[in-house]
Amino acid sequence: MADTITDKKLSRRQFVGTAAAGAAALGAVAGATTLIPRVAASPTVGGVKAAKDTITVPRAGPVPIPSSWDYTADVVVVGYGGAGAASAITAAENGASVIILDKASAPGGNTSCASGHLQWASNAIGAAEYVLTAGLGTLTTAQALAIGTQLTNVGTFLTNHNVTLAPGNPTSSTASGGFPGAQYYNWNASVASHDGYPAGTGKDFFQYLAAAVNKQSGIQVMLSTPAQHLIQDPASRTVVGVQANSSGQIINVKANKGVIMALGGYEGNRDMISAFNDDNPVAIYPAGTPYNTGDGIEMVTEVGAKLWHMQGFEYGYYGFKPSVFPSAFWLQPGGAGTMYAYIIVNSAGNRFHAESTSWGHIKTKPEPQLPNSAGTGIAGIWPNYPFYMIFDNTILTQGPVGMTQRSTTTGPTVGWNFSFLHGDYTWSKDNSVEVANGWIVQGKDLPTLAAALNINAAGLQAQVTNWNSMCAAGADTQLGRTASTMKPIINPPYCGIQMCMTMINTQGGGKRNERNQILDTMDNPIPHLYGAGEFGSYYGFWYSGSNLGSGVADGLTSGADAAAQAPWSS
Ligand SMILES: Cc1cc2nc3c(=O)[nH]c(=O)nc-3n(C[C@H](O)[C@H](O)[C@H](O)COP(=O)(O)OP(=O)(O)OC[C@H]3O[C@@H](n4cnc5c(N)ncnc54)[C@H](O)[C@@H]3O)c2cc1C
Repeated sequence: MADTITDKKLSRRQFVGTAAAGAAALGAVAGATTLIPRVAASPTVGGVKAAKDTITVPRAGPVPIPSSWDYTADVVVVGYGGAGAASAITAAENGASVIILDKASAPGGNTSCASGHLQWASNAIGAAEYVLTAGLGTLTTAQALAIGTQLTNVGTFLTNHNVTLAPGNPTSSTASGGFPGAQYYNWNASVASHDGYPAGTGKDFFQYLAAAVNKQSGIQVMLSTPAQHLIQDPASRTVVGVQANSSGQIINVKANKGVIMALGGYEGNRDMISAFNDDNPVAIYPAGTPYNTGDGIEMVTEVGAKLWHMQGFEYGYYGFKPSVFPSAFWLQPGGAGTMYAYIIVNSAGNRFHAESTSWGHIKTKPEPQLPNSAGTGIAGIWPNYPFYMIFDNTILTQGPVGMTQRSTTTGPTVGWNFSFLHGDYTWSKDNSVEVANGWIVQGKDLPTLAAALNINAAGLQAQVTNWNSMCAAGADTQLGRTASTMKPIINPPYCGIQMCMTMINTQGGGKRNERNQILDTMDNPIPHLYGAGEFGSYYGFWYSGSNLGSGVADGLTSGADAAAQAPWSS
């Protein structure tokens, strides 16, 4: 099996400057992306000369212990996102030499793409009760206690490593879900921004962590070095190293004391989305890093690990996936602070979903019936695919349709494509570039827009007429959406985008015990093998808290435990 990632970096200038080059290149990029928006198959997109960074990870069987090693450390951390950073710092502070491997050419992973909400706990026993009950039977009491304890140490870790919180943070609130102990999983925070905003995002959070990694002696970072296999001593089953790919060369990295798998989830692996989540792999794209392709799942199963929480899957907001980017943009027509200033229709032109019922951070996949208060909605999301976001010129001119700003108070870059580390795409303030690209399709009237999007024209016209009447009356009698979000579609040119679903992150990976050791199929620890972060997260069924905070808590446990191991000797 091979995992192939194509990371294309391109600038706004490149889009505009190469607009005429046309459809020839579209075929080249189309192979890397299954969803080619029908509307966006425009010549303006195809001409982009995107820089390519293609990594192929071949899969084979278990790897024998090599006769010589290319690199050696006490602890090898696979994945340099937030959990990997916290693991590496903690292991190094406990006296271990550390090598961090990351597949991407820049660190940060999903952590650097996140909105930046952090959560930790004020009371270890209370938080333990919460995670135990919210784990719905998948956690042991000892494990919940260990997690609860580390959740109370997150704030101290942040302070000790100069992770500066935004003014007024943390604030106290209660984790949602109604499980006992939720009130103790209660410290919420954003970090300070590096861009002059009152609060920062995951990008800022990762910058603080990366500075702490750089400051810490004994940590070596190797980028563009995808781990491919774990190396296991067949006699003791101890994991003794990692086989990775460095510039096309296979390298063997020895880990005397432990390997920490902090390499994220399977957001970028379409087979795994289908297999583990039983969902539509065609129209769901990561909003975050495309490099999290479930490699760890294959690596740990090769050494006999048990998997858990594979169906833990966080859906994101409504998105758009251009063929020239590996991840999806989140959409927010109407600009920062304006939500749901549009309707969503299917190819028949009909609404089928109360748009203000966001798909963000839900546990229920879109496939099931979505009830609406009027009881008249067309059931199901996927039967209505492909679907389109429709709005008018008034909304278009209110700000960038791509969610470059999560709100007016937080920093501008959320998601992979906007990230300073990766895509670096700047959505034009007036959307003119995205209109020119064909990402946003316009029509001087509704039939013209319908024709361009391949929507039934009569259906769209009837739907918009009905919608505008409901806006005037101040009530969505069709699908019961929140009245305050209703904006009429009356001002041409009319606009439409073919949407996709997005995902934030997955939670599945190797099953862990209270020391974050990864377990085998008999629930025995595989010696020297650890998990951290969203790879095998303790969030299984109920997500409340934060993956950023839990990644730090995991790093504290995995880093310290690995550093304390007796070195493996052959
Ligand atoms: C748009 C968005 C918004 C979010 N908002 C929030 C939020 O507000 N609060 C919150 O708590 N969570 C949020 N999340 C989720 C959160 O960001 C992630 O779950 C969390 O950052 C995961 O951290 P991690 O260190 O486990 O993984 P990551 O940060 O994803 O790091 C994993 C790293 O592993 C690397 N890797 C993958 N495969 C290999 C391999 N074979 N070899 C070597 N390296 C490999 C990747 O390149 C990556 O750098 C958000 C996510 C997204 C995408």
